[in-house]
Amino acid sequence: MPKMPVLFVGHGSPMNAILDNNYSRNWKMIADRIPRPKAILSISAHWYTRGTYIMSNTNPKTIYDMYGFPPALYDITYEVPGAPEIASLSHSMISGKTDFDDSWGIDHGSWSVLVHMYPNRDIPVFQISIDSEAPPETHYRIGRELSALRDQGVLIMGSGNIVHNLRQVDWHKPGEGLDWAYEFDDFINENILSGNHDRILNYKDMGMIARMAVPTPDHFFPLLYVLGASNQNDEISVYNKSGELGSLTMTSYLFE
Ligand code: ZN
Repeated sequence: MPKMPVLFVGHGSPMNAILDNNYSRNWKMIADRIPRPKAILSISAHWYTRGTYIMSNTNPKTIYDMYGFPPALYDITYEVPGAPEIASLSHSMISGKTDFDDSWGIDHGSWSVLVHMYPNRDIPVFQISIDSEAPPETHYRIGRELSALRDQGVLIMGSGNIVHNLRQVDWHKPGEGLDWAYEFDDFINENILSGNHDRILNYKDMGMIARMAVPTPDHFFPLLYVLGASNQNDEISVYNKSGELGSLTMTSYLFE
């Protein structure tokens, strides 16, 4: 079985689920070039909880955790099998406290991307939640502990946005970022490419720029799981390095 890559995706607006644009085309291209996963573990910005939870049901439901979008988005279903065996394996791999929780499902952080990557809905998917109270090092450590899933045919995918500040969104800036958004995105980019993960874990040292780019860490933390699950020998590819609506960046990373 080939060692699976690890993927961080900047998902951006839920509208990307129904748009054919550069972002969604690149997501499809990534799926076409990597080995077909046996299962997908998605760590989505949108399952943000107190404590770490693992979804283990056999038929996860589609969750519509976004408001005020066109009806076409709410018509999408992403009905895939769950992955209870890999979920319970994951439970045993994580050293900190975790519990199973099937109250959630496949949320739009996952399905807005997966509808493009795997439209046939024939690969099992499960999610692990992000503990909102844990420090960056904990998320990184969980990623490292789960890294061996890569040898079991599991695609570990983090879905968020490196820069994500909804208060500063400017709908008149499609495909554009503000200076501080590019500056933070470049800082993360340099440290990913040079393997300097400590500087990423200490992103708050960037001061004001970090507070603008990451006002709350829900969309940033999925990256830390992916970095934890990567290793030094991985080749790194960068996709969709772009600002969007001023205060988002779509930059995505594949480690293989
Ligand atoms: Zn989101």
